[in-house]
Amino acid sequence: MEDLVNLLSKFIRLVAIRLPDDVYNALKELSSKENSCWGKEVYSIMFDNIKLALEKNVPVCQDTGVLMFFVDAGADFPYLNVLPDAIHAATIRATEEAPLRPNVVEPFTEKNTGNNVGTRLPWIEWNILPNTSYSNITLYLAGGGTSLTGQAKVLPPASGFKGVIEFVLEVISSYGLNACPPFLVGVGLGTTVETAAILSKRALLRPIGSRNPDPNAASLEKILYDKINGLEIGPQGLGGSTTALAVHVEYSARHPATLAVGVSTGCWAHRRGTMRLKSDLSYELPSYEGVEL
Ligand code: SF4
Repeated sequence: MEDLVNLLSKFIRLVAIRLPDDVYNALKELSSKENSCWGKEVYSIMFDNIKLALEKNVPVCQDTGVLMFFVDAGADFPYLNVLPDAIHAATIRATEEAPLRPNVVEPFTEKNTGNNVGTRLPWIEWNILPNTSYSNITLYLAGGGTSLTGQAKVLPPASGFKGVIEFVLEVISSYGLNACPPFLVGVGLGTTVETAAILSKRALLRPIGSRNPDPNAASLEKILYDKINGLEIGPQGLGGSTTALAVHVEYSARHPATLAVGVSTGCWAHRRGTMRLKSDLSYELPSYEGVEL
């Protein structure tokens, strides 16, 4: 248990301090395409920020968010019984050691718990991998500004993809500024608000540069990407040609009478990382090449 908590707390710290490779590379690419002088200046500040966080070993943004874990749990992974307790203990330890800002407030008392653990937090989403002895643990730090953008709505199916596109653009143009652009946009399609919402969040976990394997979903990603960049919100909302790091669409089959749409954003400091934890507690960090805990 102690080894597991130690490993998880170091992983949490890594995610808070260092952007994953794909996000860093996408920011580099966007910064080379930005035309506005304010936009270029914002990128320059962002890269200074990223460099300083690494040099000083401190979180890349002061808002270290609320911790959300997405666990692809191998059915034969030997630590499943203790994993939730280990995640809680590691969160408390990382809050002291990283440090993480205490962000967890109980809604009816308005009391901050002080250690980033509270009712149902850290949030843990489970997915079972049959006949597998390892687990993939993905951590997403849900910051306040970027979470403020999130919305979901159930449309009548007659709205079609035109209605989906209009809803996404309405959300992004009204609230996207909160999410410190350039941001990653996750869109979920399903039957109900909660399935569309969770799919939109899962869309943020895909590596930037990946496309949905369904050609129609991939085409929707491209249409939305072009339209969102056409809004010219620009880096930190100061105007410019680059607003979206990417648009990812995830979907489920739906009820014939509904077309639910969820929208989530991941800000420029999109802190999500994956650790593959094996049965002997050795690990791989596919989001961070050449990095060890
Ligand atoms: S939106 Fe992201 S970068 Fe901006 S303050 Fe929140 S966590 Fe930090």
